Amino acid sequence: MIELVNKLEKEKILTKAEFVRLLGCDESTQEYLAKTAEKIRIENYGKDIYLRGLIEFTNFCKQDCYYCGIRKSNTQCPRYRLTKEDILECCKEGYELGYRTFVLQGGEDAYFTDDRLCEIISAIRGNYPDCAITLSVGEKSKESYQRFFDCGANRYLLRHETANAEHFSKLHPEKQTLKSRKKCLLNLKEIGYQVGCGFMVGSPYQTLENLAEDLLFIKELNPQMVGLGPFIPHNQTPFKDFNSGTLDLTLKLLSIIRIMLPKILLPATTALATIDPKGREKGILAGANVVMPNLSPLSVRKKYQLYDNKVCTGDESAHCRRCMEGRINSIGCRIVTARGDSKNI
Ligand code: SAH
Repeated sequence: MIELVNKLEKEKILTKAEFVRLLGCDESTQEYLAKTAEKIRIENYGKDIYLRGLIEFTNFCKQDCYYCGIRKSNTQCPRYRLTKEDILECCKEGYELGYRTFVLQGGEDAYFTDDRLCEIISAIRGNYPDCAITLSVGEKSKESYQRFFDCGANRYLLRHETANAEHFSKLHPEKQTLKSRKKCLLNLKEIGYQVGCGFMVGSPYQTLENLAEDLLFIKELNPQMVGLGPFIPHNQTPFKDFNSGTLDLTLKLLSIIRIMLPKILLPATTALATIDPKGREKGILAGANVVMPNLSPLSVRKKYQLYDNKVCTGDESAHCRRCMEGRINSIGCRIVTARGDSKNI
């Protein structure tokens, strides 16, 4: 199997059948995958790990994704939304802690019209001209994406969730389609955003063939970022009885993506930290180079519950920042406070 890793490193792509074989590899090949990925991460980004401050500004959502704890049909979810002032306060605290990227993430909340979002983006842009603004607010029209961009947003995270249309339809109600998701990603790219796609590892009904299709899709899209973490069930969703994705499969995918797209920005996600106490560290050692600690006010942290047992929901932002520094240093890397734009352009 080692020869498959070498082939991937050389050619930066494999066939679907080869990806499937590699995803099923044994422990020693996984170790070799991780070492190769780490080497490539260091060649491109050194030992620098980039920080993104995550502001979860609303958990109202009009979508009904079967996997997600803040889906519309979850009537037990206590809903909240932050005001513009709250959000600016998070940015202020974040800036003082060294964050130079703010990620505004939320459900698809109709209260936040384009006008309201633009007002918030413009205010952050005005206060922090040296920072990157990342949006993660789901599917919108090209016109809306353009308006946000014109107000100062630079990056957009929209996971494709799965590149297989049939699998997509098992994770979402009929009105959500893979076609529209892909169109959004292309629109974002055309406008000039640094774009992030991504998917959950071990989501219900997912096969290794599906994951190979995700890899081929990612190669073709050639995004600046790829967000991936294990699926974790939420007890108030239709998928409550499914198992979580595994650590090993998530790590293999991080490594494969690092090798396939050497300059990609790859977060070690909170979901990964939730299924393993050293998940973030292991993710970085497998090729990741971004961490996204929470900047949301403590009062709302527990309410942004996409899945069960999410970690770090009880800690102040300053605590998260220090904790992250310790974790990154413990594996011989360092947190940098630079904006950390992608080198994959
Ligand atoms: N509404 C926005 C952003 C919030 S959801 C959007 O849809 O883009 C952000 C990501 O969390 C989703 O793309 C999904 O991949 C992930 N997620 C949702 N539920 C999850 C679960 N149960 N386990 C793991 N990840 C989940």
